[in-house]
Amino acid sequence: MKRITLLGATGSIGLRTLDLVASFPEELQIAGLAARGSNVDLIADLCRKYSPRAVALLDAGAVDRLARQLPAPRPELLSGPEGLAALARDADADVVVSALVGGAGLLPTMAAIQAGRTVALANKETLVMAGSLMTAAARRRGVTLLPVDSEHSAVFQCLAGHNRGDIHRILLTASGGPFRETPKAKLAAVTVEDALRHPTWKMGAKITIDSATLMNKGLEIIEARWLFDVAPDQVQVVVHPQSIVHSMVEYIDGSVIAQLGVADMGVPILYALTYPERRPTPAARLDLTRVGRLTFQEPDTDKFPCLRLARAALEQGGAAPVVLNAANEIAVAAFLDRRIGFIDIADVIERALGGSPAGELRSIDECVAIDAEVRRRVQQLVDVRTGGHRA
Ligand code: NAD
Ligand code: MG
Repeated sequence: MKRITLLGATGSIGLRTLDLVASFPEELQIAGLAARGSNVDLIADLCRKYSPRAVALLDAGAVDRLARQLPAPRPELLSGPEGLAALARDADADVVVSALVGGAGLLPTMAAIQAGRTVALANKETLVMAGSLMTAAARRRGVTLLPVDSEHSAVFQCLAGHNRGDIHRILLTASGGPFRETPKAKLAAVTVEDALRHPTWKMGAKITIDSATLMNKGLEIIEARWLFDVAPDQVQVVVHPQSIVHSMVEYIDGSVIAQLGVADMGVPILYALTYPERRPTPAARLDLTRVGRLTFQEPDTDKFPCLRLARAALEQGGAAPVVLNAANEIAVAAFLDRRIGFIDIADVIERALGGSPAGELRSIDECVAIDAEVRRRVQQLVDVRTGGHRA
């Protein structure tokens, strides 16, 4: 039996993970659940269905409401950022699924690594912020980081049985998002609803906007650099609107290995949960004769500057990716809140990157401090721009 602690239980990845746990009751079991706490009724339902030994919610008030909804014996209830980290560290789990969204996942994911737990990583923002420190900690503790992100799961599968030294480059595929064919001049006027309409994947709001700006692919370049320990210029992006080839690895002899399948996050999530084994899933099967055509093209970094900004932050290194990520989170939230327009997202990030502190990141504490400072600064910038009003 594999025991799982799930960070981000109420999210898109979290609920999908729970469905898979329910489908393999002899094999998978929930040890701990964590979420923000905005939907206590849902968390109470999940507790009744999955009987976790411990639950951590960011919001302490939500913990009180949950306690009132659950009859004894209740799971151990924890709250606040420390509660989330304690759950990741202490709940007796074989795998911690890191599926919070954004920088909020950094401390609990680090706590899981420091406790020596295998981490199934969906929360790419944590690796963007602290890739060097996180992978070093994982190496020290002998912890495996298993990718959940579909592209990285694909690369991980394409690397199996090969020598890392033989990699020429990694080709991350991108759907291109909802604005792949929208002329650049029209991007200024796109709405939140337009941006939330992703052509191939159904996901949480933040990553859906990241997919529309292509920042998601930028974050994934940084994620791949750290997960697979390759040089930044060895990670390249190719737009593939059908989302059938999930990514590829090109080797030094020119051979390219790809992983294909229908677009369904259940597949990479289950692979991370059962790794190194595979299990049958009810997921739709790939029928290439019905797909007919697979197409590939260069990404347009002029139309989607976020891709360029992410690469620049990776090349600059140190605190720049922390700045990139924090500025992006604030800008995306402001866009979702209709306070700034779609093209302002990249603009806000570019300004923030201009003020990146120099030097290497020495500690997670330093990373957390820079993250908080950038959020404050970028929020101020957004407030000044909008005069506190909605766009
Ligand atoms: P989501 O918004 O659907 O869910 C986020 C979860 O995190 C929720 O459980 C929420 O309660 C919790 N959360 C949010 N803010 C929090 C905070 N400050 N403190 C504690 N908990 C908090 O997001 P998602 O789409 O499931 O994505 C989760 C992560 O997985 C992201 O990093 C995303 O980039 C990555 N990812 C998602 C998909 C996908 O298909 N959804 C695919 C690849 C990677
Ligand atoms: Mg992805």
